[in-house]
Parts: sequence; C-alpha cells; structure tokens
Amino acid sequence: MIISIASGKGGTGKTTIAANLAFSLPRARILDCDVEEPNVHLFIKPELDYREEVGTAVLLIDEELCDGCRKCVDICRFRALTMIGSKILTFPEMCHSCGGCLEVCPRGAVGETSRQLGIIEGGRRDNIIFFHGLLRVGESMAPPLIKKVRSFCRSDEINIIDAPPGTSCPVIMATKDTDFVILVTEPTPFGLHDLKLAVEAMKLLGVPMGLVINRADMGDDKVLRYAEAEQIPLLLSIPFKREIAAVYSRGELFAQAFPEWQERFRGMFAEITAIVEGGRK
Ligand code: SF4
Ligand code: SF4
Repeated sequence: MIISIASGKGGTGKTTIAANLAFSLPRARILDCDVEEPNVHLFIKPELDYREEVGTAVLLIDEELCDGCRKCVDICRFRALTMIGSKILTFPEMCHSCGGCLEVCPRGAVGETSRQLGIIEGGRRDNIIFFHGLLRVGESMAPPLIKKVRSFCRSDEINIIDAPPGTSCPVIMATKDTDFVILVTEPTPFGLHDLKLAVEAMKLLGVPMGLVINRADMGDDKVLRYAEAEQIPLLLSIPFKREIAAVYSRGELFAQAFPEWQERFRGMFAEITAIVEGGRK
C-alpha cells in the first residue's frame, strides 16, 4: 500500500505525521518526496548507507553542424532555446528533456549531455526503511527526482510518502497513483483555504483521502464542517500541547515520547486500510 501525506501549505505538521505514522507501524518504508526541503530524516534519524546521483539528459548544440534554421527554438515550449544573431543559445536549467528539438533538427546538430538534478539517499532505523531526494540548489525540475524517490516504493510493503506542500506539479508527482492521501491541516482560515485547494487537486487524481487536523483545539470548526460536507473522514485530531511542541522542536517523535500516540496512529492506519480495501471491492 502507498499512503501519501500532503497539505495545501507548508508548516502544518505534515512531515511529523508521516514520521510518527512510520514509527508507530511494525514495519514501513518512508519516502521523503519534499525534495526541495526534505526533513523527514531530522525525525527518523536513519543510518544512511545508500547514495545515488540523479541526472537528466539535456541538449547540446553542435555549432559546426547548425545552420541557424531556428526549428528547434520554435518547437521548444519551455523556452530553453533562443537565437542570438545566427547562434543558438541554450538554457539547460529550463530544458524538460522532451526531445522535441532533437526530432526537428534537419542537420543532426542537437545532441545530448546530462545535468545533475540532485541525489537520493537511503538508510534505515530499526523497522523503518528510509529514502529521500535532495534537489540540487538552483535546480527547478523536481518531478523527475520525485519520480526516482518513488521508485523505491515496494508493492508488498507499507509505503509512506511525504509529499511537498502546495498543489503544483511536484505534489501531483508525489501523490498520483497512491492508494490514499492524508491531508494535514490546521483549523484556521488559512488552513481551510489551502485545504480546499488540496482537496480539489486530489479529486482530479481520484485518490481517496482523509483528514488529520493538527493543533486541533485552536481556531474554529469550519475545517471540520467543510470535511463533513465533502465527506472526507477525519482520521486524527492532534491538540496543541506544550509537551508535543517541545518534543517536535527537539526533532523527536512524539509517538515515541508519548507511546499512547502509537496506538492512535495504528488506529488511523487500520481505518485507512479499511477505506482502501472497501474501495477495491
Ligand atoms: S529537449 Fe525539449 S525542453 Fe529541452 S530544449 Fe529541446 S525542445 Fe526544449
Ligand atoms: S534545428 Fe538544428 S540546425 Fe536548426 S537552428 Fe536548431 S540546431 Fe540549428
């Protein structure tokens, strides 16, 4: 099973839910797909024993062969090519490796080289297998790296994906084709606004979803009422407690510090399993 954990905005406690859920289960794989700012490792503290550089193909123009026909510039919808005088100027950071320029060049002047997107690291802590992606500073193409992190999912295991915040392409790459999405939010007007955006994005993917409300005793009940109207089950409410905040600020797992939470996370997992299996019938 693959469970992704998402939120319409950062700072809702998405990562701590992912890490505490993984910790509370007998065995889990946790995949941190928030490649621009991965921080699951701060809570899981795995012993790393795996490292892989991930690159992508980018174009290279052979100036000797190029006759300046501009066909490559015209086909590139990512603006990775432009023409200055009779010379082609390339912007490798913008290239999405679609291969369009390669196809249309009549003179075989477009070749390929590679550029590093980032790295994957992996390791484990007790019964938790861990992987994350680290996007290279200045790199804008997160989806291929997220796809690579997701390749470490195993169909016969419980896979927990910490998705990037927001509702853009990287979130879709992290959550599509997963069995269930946990949306994490707070009971505030901002929380509700971003939750609505996240729900609409997940509806397009057709993935069943459930809600976790963090700092649940702050704010109002509008998030709850919205979830009821949308028939999104409330899986867990986590109150704002000084002890939990203190554990979090030390980069520790509150399900470890307060073992009663392990039972609650296991209960949430059982509920998710029932929803997923019910949907498959
Ligand atoms: S491979 Fe695609 S994105 Fe990259 S420069 Fe060529 S046309 Fe543009
Ligand atoms: S399509 Fe080929 S020949 Fe034409 S400008 Fe581009 S690289 Fe040069």
